[in-house]
Amino acid sequence: MINKRAILLVFVFVLASCASPAKPNMHNTMAERLDRIAALLQNQATDKDTANAPIFLRQDDTPNASTDGQAVYITAGLMNSVSDLALALIIAHELGHISLGHYWSQSPLEQLEQEADRYGLFLLARAGLDYQEAVQLPIATQTPHEKVPHTHGQLPPNYGTNRAANFRLVIAEIEALKAKGVSITP
Ligand SMILES: [Zn+2]
Repeated sequence: MINKRAILLVFVFVLASCASPAKPNMHNTMAERLDRIAALLQNQATDKDTANAPIFLRQDDTPNASTDGQAVYITAGLMNSVSDLALALIIAHELGHISLGHYWSQSPLEQLEQEADRYGLFLLARAGLDYQEAVQLPIATQTPHEKVPHTHGQLPPNYGTNRAANFRLVIAEIEALKAKGVSITP
């Protein structure tokens, strides 16, 4: 039986149409790619939970990213579907759920998502990645399908629009910190 909490923060990204066919050596290459991008972010993490969170590759063709509050799970299907920058944004978002203790939170789902997006953009900025470009990617503007029990609420139909607005606010916040020359810390 699936624990309800275990699927609270699971996202299914609708990117199947972008998936590319598997290639020889894909598994090694894929694991190395995941490790490289995760390390880039986790080296910049400001707390131990996030810095040390295991990032697991799941052999599953469904594009999906999730966390159980301690580790991040990225499917092969997702890795086949997105660029390095999109993958960084997704991993950073999931690390945000871990850092902020969302797995045990009863706050509304949209609030959790916006907080994780804020944390994720800060982490991208700290890692020197192009957060301005990242929020323009399809992955950042679509409304993800979610497997969420009704007791934890659902994302509103206009979530994609709200998410884009939240990204703009966070970018303004980051730009203001950079202008002041202070640390970009969420
Ligand atoms: Zn999330």
